[in-house]
Amino acid sequence: MDTATQTAASLKGGEWLIKESQPEETFIPEDFNEEQHMVKDMCASFLDTEVLPIIQRIDSMEPGLMPSLVVKAGEQGLLGTAVPESLGGLGKDFITSTLVNEGLGGGFSFSVAIAAHTGIGTLPILYFGTDAQKEKYVTKLATGEWKGSYGLTEPGSGSDALGAKTTATLSSDGKFYLLNGQKCWITNGGFADVYTVFAKVDGDKFTAFIVERGFEGFTQGPEEHKMGIKGSSTVQLYFQDCKVPVENVLGEIGRGHIIAFNILNVGRLKLCAATLGGAKRAITTTVEYALTREQFKEPIAHFGAIQHKLAEMAIKAWVSESALYRTAEWIDAKERSMIEAGKPFNESTLGAAEEYAIECAILKVLGSEMLDYVVDEGVQIHGGNGYSDEYIISKAYRDSRINRIYEGTNEINRLLIVDMVLKRAMKGRLDLMGPAMGVQKELMSIPDFGSGDDSDPFASEKKLIANFKKAILMTAGAAVQKLMMKLDKEQEILMNIADMAIHTFTAESALLRVIKLESSKADAANQWEKDVLKVYLSEAADQIFIAGKEAINSFAEGDEQRMMQLGIKRFTKADPFNTKDARRRIVSRLYEDKKYPL
Ligand SMILES: Cc1cc2nc3c(=O)[nH]c(=O)nc-3n(C[C@H](O)[C@H](O)[C@H](O)COP(=O)(O)OP(=O)(O)OC[C@H]3O[C@@H](n4cnc5c(N)ncnc54)[C@H](O)[C@@H]3O)c2cc1C
Repeated sequence: MDTATQTAASLKGGEWLIKESQPEETFIPEDFNEEQHMVKDMCASFLDTEVLPIIQRIDSMEPGLMPSLVVKAGEQGLLGTAVPESLGGLGKDFITSTLVNEGLGGGFSFSVAIAAHTGIGTLPILYFGTDAQKEKYVTKLATGEWKGSYGLTEPGSGSDALGAKTTATLSSDGKFYLLNGQKCWITNGGFADVYTVFAKVDGDKFTAFIVERGFEGFTQGPEEHKMGIKGSSTVQLYFQDCKVPVENVLGEIGRGHIIAFNILNVGRLKLCAATLGGAKRAITTTVEYALTREQFKEPIAHFGAIQHKLAEMAIKAWVSESALYRTAEWIDAKERSMIEAGKPFNESTLGAAEEYAIECAILKVLGSEMLDYVVDEGVQIHGGNGYSDEYIISKAYRDSRINRIYEGTNEINRLLIVDMVLKRAMKGRLDLMGPAMGVQKELMSIPDFGSGDDSDPFASEKKLIANFKKAILMTAGAAVQKLMMKLDKEQEILMNIADMAIHTFTAESALLRVIKLESSKADAANQWEKDVLKVYLSEAADQIFIAGKEAINSFAEGDEQRMMQLGIKRFTKADPFNTKDARRRIVSRLYEDKKYPL
């Protein structure tokens, strides 16, 4: 696809909810170019040769080891894919830098260190720094000469990040800001050279500062003892009249929230990429184990209960991957179109990520919950050995858990998904009103039980996805009408609606990938993907039904409740499908390949 087509193809953020996406306009992982495949291979080989053989040493926090690995990754160009060449990076597209996060995602604590360094450690300065700040810091961060970190969270303010208490006061000579306060849970904090730190100027002006390790008044606490990612440095930072030169204010005074929130959009998508890399490796480890571990005189891989689990693990990873790269390409295309329109690099990259903030939040929840599912079942398939430190899956299990907590907890991200959709609708950025009224009208009419165009082999799947969207519009539309301003106090309903949206976006991404593959490969070659799609659609229909039913029962009564319950049933009615047999077919491919197949 050329640039123009890609740009034209991009839907606005959240627009998939009301518009049909086209498969030929959807980027799928099978579209990776030669260079992107090379980058993927390079990351895999870096993990296999440099990281995984010394994973125990990393976890024991051997002094100097993690920073030296960051430097090695820098030597191979793995830190600078998102950084322009003029600042010492490789200036690659967004999909390629996402691939690096995926490729290094199976490296446990190392992945966390790298993701923090290249993401929250580098991007605030890259996107919001002055030319001098970028020249001074980003050039060193892109090579790994300096390591980056990010201090937003405080003991009293986590999810409510703007409630920070750290203060910044201009010195009497006007040359410094004096920072006073404390930050906690700071990744890479123990060895970083440069930190983006948030503090309030004049009481309420939330502002970002670039703080160097050597600045007077800056100290750090001891390493935290954590449940997992034990090799990842996590410390508290203390600022006692810490002298930060005025030229180290990042962005504008009082505009720190713009930096904090914008950086998170990219971080959420990249977190999904890292969870995908971790999941693929955990699946491979578990497949290998299931094939070799024998009970009752046969490999446990033969048992249907195990096959069900492994198939589910692969399905969840594959559909997450479909949603991830669909979104990554949207961001890429938007960024390119903004640059072509003459917008500066940082404005374009941030604008593109902001446009797809809804999808980034969806991906964060999707990826982190997918990986937790994968490693949990991975432990189960390993039985007692899964509970032993001798087996890597136990480590994967412990290390996965953090993903649901940082980059905005999954509760906060779920709230954000619905909040952003509704705000965009109110601002006229997203026309939800018309389609929502259309669904209400449809509810009153005689149902159409046909599956659509008979000549289209995917007619019934397309209709199902369209119906999922109607289910969301019906539920969310009625909740807004009924509860108005009180809706934000009804978080249970918002969680239900967010779950419906997550399943719908994922299901549609998987369907588009299968249809696009169908046009490029012989039918039989796609049987595995079709099975994955059909099982997921069947599960998504059930999950959307449950979430919709619960939401409706929370706010509707009487005839309205009955009518909407009939509607939700109708909109989530999937064709009967033998999911058990499909899962067995899916898993047989994993067994043949002895790994996650793609
Ligand atoms: C290992 C690790 C590394 C980290 N790295 C960094 C880092 O590098 N830099 C940094 O700045 N921070 C970092 N963090 C901090 C992380 O971002 C926060 O822990 C996270 O944002 C949650 O904040 P909190 O821990 O204060 O939990 P809280 O905000 O107290 O949340 C507790 C619970 O309440 C829920 N909750 C909170 N508010 C709401 C609401 N309005 N509605 C519904 N539910 C709500 C949350 O979802 C959660 O379940 C890290 C944390 C850990 C554990």
